[in-house]
Amino acid sequence: MVDLIDTIVYAGRLKDKSALMSSSSGGAFTALSNAFLKSGDAVVAAVYNYENHTVEFQMILDEKQRERAKGSKYMQSKPGDIYQEAYRWLMDNPKKELLFVGMGCQSDGFRKFSEIKGIRDRVHIVDIICHGSPSPKLWREYAESIQKKDGKITYLTFKDKRNGWKSPTAYVKVNGSERPLKDYVRVFYNRCALRPSCYECPYATTERKTDMTIGDFWHIEETIPNFYDSNGNSLFLIHTNRGEKLFEKIQSDLDYRLSNTIQCWQANLEAPTQKSEQREEFWNDYKKKGIDFVMKKYGSVPVKTKIKNKLLKIMGGIHRR
Ligand SMILES: Cc1cc2nc3c(=O)[nH]c(=O)nc-3n(C[C@H](O)[C@H](O)[C@H](O)COP(=O)(O)OP(=O)(O)OC[C@H]3O[C@@H](n4cnc5c(N)ncnc54)[C@H](O)[C@@H]3O)c2cc1C
Repeated sequence: MVDLIDTIVYAGRLKDKSALMSSSSGGAFTALSNAFLKSGDAVVAAVYNYENHTVEFQMILDEKQRERAKGSKYMQSKPGDIYQEAYRWLMDNPKKELLFVGMGCQSDGFRKFSEIKGIRDRVHIVDIICHGSPSPKLWREYAESIQKKDGKITYLTFKDKRNGWKSPTAYVKVNGSERPLKDYVRVFYNRCALRPSCYECPYATTERKTDMTIGDFWHIEETIPNFYDSNGNSLFLIHTNRGEKLFEKIQSDLDYRLSNTIQCWQANLEAPTQKSEQREEFWNDYKKKGIDFVMKKYGSVPVKTKIKNKLLKIMGGIHRR
């Protein structure tokens, strides 16, 4: 029986420093997936496909596969027929359980599916706080354009922590060298390229029907300064009795603190990302002039903004997701 409860909030991070460094935030996904993989249960999560440059949901049954699912991928992922595949796996393994991790819309879709199929008691459903997902076609063309100029992409990260969790480095590896993704990341944040539905997202709230929501615990250095770690901090929002039990299961892998919805406030827990006034112009430019043109026009920073951003950074006002 799954019951909704008043939201419980935790800040937490993996005790294992090396696993924390290879996680986007505080390693919530690793802690959660460990709990399932160790007991032979299954995990469903989104993995980057280096052949066709899409992000696909896959069934994950061991730690090696799980490592490939780590990392925030800033483009819309494809659930494909993963709901059915998860259902079939549960039918074939009647004693096993399954963890589903996806964005708010994908996880709530899976929640509804699991209720209809009568498997809600055998699945744990976690969703991820989301700024919005850019069009997958835009990313694919961007990746293909890099490959045409520089060679095959063999590695992708949006959240390398070499400069700390608050200043993530985004790059792809091509021919063994790093090529920065600054232009694409700017387009991601400037609100032009997100899917139309993202601007009306009903999941931009702390109240959800999944078991748990995970994300970055932004501003933790101000709200819980004695628990801040420059290597990464996860936020856990627990919505059901099943989520409470799940958090108990992963506690031994984590350093954690009880928190509340005021300390963990961030824009996308209150409202969806607002559509940019330039969105229409962006897509018209893209249709007429192509990917390289829009990346140059919308992905580079005017000198005036560079100076303003530098000042804001000095004052501690810029946060990355
Ligand atoms: C497009 C996008 C926007 C985000 N916006 C915010 C935000 O506004 N605020 C915030 O606090 N956090 C945001 N996040 C979440 C944050 O970046 C981390 O992914 C999250 O905190 C999990 O961290 P971790 O340390 O557990 O990550 P990791 O161990 O690195 O695991 C990342 C998890 O995210 C999943 N994932 C990655 N990309 C996708 C994708 N495209 N579709 C579906 N699942 C995916 C992986 O499968 C894995 O389960 C966003 C993530 C994405 C992908």
